[in-house]
Amino acid sequence: MTKFSDLNLSPKVVKAIEEAGYESPTPIQAGAIPPALEGRDVLGIAQTGTGKTAGFVLPMITLLARGRARARMPRSLVLCPTRELAAQVAENFDTYAKHVKLTKALLIGGVSFKEQDKLIDKGVDVLIATPGRLLDHFERGKLLLTGVQIMVIDEADRMLDMGFIPDIERIFSLTPFTRQTLFFSATMAPEIERITNTFLSNPARVEVARQASASETITQGVVMFKGSRRDREASEKRKLLRALIDGEGDLCSNAIIFCNRKTDVDIVAKSLKKNGYDAAPIHGDLDQSQRTRTLDGFRDGALRFLVASDVAARGLDVPSVSHVFNFDVPSHAEDYVHRIGRTGRAGRLGKAMMICNPRDEKNLAAIDALLQKEIPRIENPIGGPAPDTADAPTKDSAGPESSTEEKPEDKPAKPRRTRSRRKPSDAAQTQEATAAQPSEAKPEIAAQQDTPAPTEQTEQAAARPDTSDEAPREDKPKRSRGGRGRSGGNGGGSDNRTVGMGDHMPSFIALSFEERRAS
Ligand code: AMP
Repeated sequence: MTKFSDLNLSPKVVKAIEEAGYESPTPIQAGAIPPALEGRDVLGIAQTGTGKTAGFVLPMITLLARGRARARMPRSLVLCPTRELAAQVAENFDTYAKHVKLTKALLIGGVSFKEQDKLIDKGVDVLIATPGRLLDHFERGKLLLTGVQIMVIDEADRMLDMGFIPDIERIFSLTPFTRQTLFFSATMAPEIERITNTFLSNPARVEVARQASASETITQGVVMFKGSRRDREASEKRKLLRALIDGEGDLCSNAIIFCNRKTDVDIVAKSLKKNGYDAAPIHGDLDQSQRTRTLDGFRDGALRFLVASDVAARGLDVPSVSHVFNFDVPSHAEDYVHRIGRTGRAGRLGKAMMICNPRDEKNLAAIDALLQKEIPRIENPIGGPAPDTADAPTKDSAGPESSTEEKPEDKPAKPRRTRSRRKPSDAAQTQEATAAQPSEAKPEIAAQQDTPAPTEQTEQAAARPDTSDEAPREDKPKRSRGGRGRSGGNGGGSDNRTVGMGDHMPSFIALSFEERRAS
């Protein structure tokens, strides 16, 4: 089995890895680190949870250990689709570079330009950024990208979903032709293939899992659900969610609950809390400090249930999430794979359960087709529809929190074409169901009466899927194009290899699971 010490990493990096408790490199690390250290471009096809972050961070630290940063000219650049992911990459640098003197700056929305400018002015070795924020700094004349020797694109397929590809092309064009590029994506959509063909030069291609495959360590199940009456469906569905959680007992140490819409994220979190579950919401419209607080709480184990939208939870690295509950069937089959990939990480066991109502059966069929197997149907633990009297009526309403929902300017300029379009009538139905809820949570009702009724437009906006990423306008993708290819680029590369967990399964996999079970 390959060892970290065989990979030519700097001894200081190997020391930090040992201190992090890693015994051996994961397949993406074993595959990506050697060519990266040789200065080659790398095309890594890997999902989160495979250890891909260390796959680029470790060679970067080794390569950057020599040389010094110059003012306003970062020596390397890591681009991530969301703030959370960027912050996570920054944490990885802190862990693995603790014995090396490297400076870094994190350019993400929600942090003041002034602080970030100060760091860049001093000169940084590593700049970690979201594309919009990076271009904002560049356009303000605060930053030069001509000193970038290594550029990393992380989660390229998510960048595509969020409409960031034109920004990425522009950023490529602002960096030197001689740079080294490390490019990571979970899937290789045609547009991603095009970008890699244009901007990567004879990359080493390292693939660690079949495209869009679900980890074998995750037990999956889906409950078919139909409300007893349309006006009761929403509350009955929440009751079913609670029953699924309860059915797992102590095995469910923590969970992420995914909803398709931001309003539902808020409603489900509120409803769980009201029913005595330790839950909090996270989605693109909550302010950054709140998102960070919630995530930190979830990571530390202080918060048990994180109710999330796809964008907010994408790429989050919380190593031990025991369960994922899909409150809704995602409208894109690949999102299912990403969602359930929050559990069963780094080889641990995990469980993923989903609720599917008749309207979502088409989407469920698409997921089964993508996985090339049928997700096992599990019995409805409450045996059939029943009214949910314990639920608060205001939870369904587009109440005051809806005013913070997705604003048009937060949407990517070029959303994924296949994104589901909710008909206005869907929003109306939600509202209709709300009106018929039993009236128990009186204080909340009273509070709501003071609130002006939301406009139809607000409700429809609130009912849209969460496509916002970093909320602030400045990160909105721009349409500019300036891409220029590197001659001889070839996304396929000559060094094609595919490795799976198989024989290479590192020993930490069995270890962490046993520990969890024992506890
Ligand atoms: P990533 O795919 O980069 O999000 O990483 C997933 C998780 O795997 C993170 O919590 C890492 O700390 C952990 N990890 C990365 N490399 C290793 C390794 N070689 N051994 C054990 N855990 C690792």
